[in-house]
Amino acid sequence: MTDASPSLVDLLRPVKHVLLDFDGPVCSVFAGLAAPEVARRLRLGLLAASEQAPPGDETETDPLALLRLIADARPDLAVAADAALAALETEAVRIGRPNPGGESVLRACARSNRAVSVVSNNAGAAIEAYLSDHGLSGYVTGIFGRSPGDPSSMKPNPRLLLAAMDAAGSRPDECIFIGDAARDVEAGYAAGVATIGYANKPGKDTRLSSAGAVVVVDSMQLIADALA
Ligand SMILES: [Mg+2]
Repeated sequence: MTDASPSLVDLLRPVKHVLLDFDGPVCSVFAGLAAPEVARRLRLGLLAASEQAPPGDETETDPLALLRLIADARPDLAVAADAALAALETEAVRIGRPNPGGESVLRACARSNRAVSVVSNNAGAAIEAYLSDHGLSGYVTGIFGRSPGDPSSMKPNPRLLLAAMDAAGSRPDECIFIGDAARDVEAGYAAGVATIGYANKPGKDTRLSSAGAVVVVDSMQLIADALA
């Protein structure tokens, strides 16, 4: 899609509650403090705190995937690993790269009286810090980050989406989810919510479409324009 087509406008017209993924649509969390460095620091921190090396593939450079590996292998380390990662994510968002189109979507939702919940595999504390730093807290009704110490809550599990809808008392057919990963689309499907795919990198459009995204856009501004 290259412009706000009628289909996007039609899709968004009945929507009262926008569920918004964070990393990608709102900001690039690891644009300043890179993901592999965060994974390295997470390993080092756990190693410093215990006598054994933390479990998990030494080659895993995705901090969230590493958290899952650690929690699967050593459930006793899950809470500490999650807290350590949350602190690193909070540091990362302070030097992350905002997505101007994401902010436009937040403002367009406010202007059109739509509620927004952020639904993310990132830590709620990091999301709160970002929104607060950027003066955006007032645009968001709810923040649903991963359940601390329980990486199984992360998408593609629909749990966080279901919690966001439950908290607002909204039905799936009044909601839309916007995410940039196939796991977002899968979580949306499992929660009964249509998902707009945001393809912010080459090749993502095909993955998002194959996963079942109702529409794929390459710019958050298109969604903001259609909401207005
Ligand atoms: Mg994302």
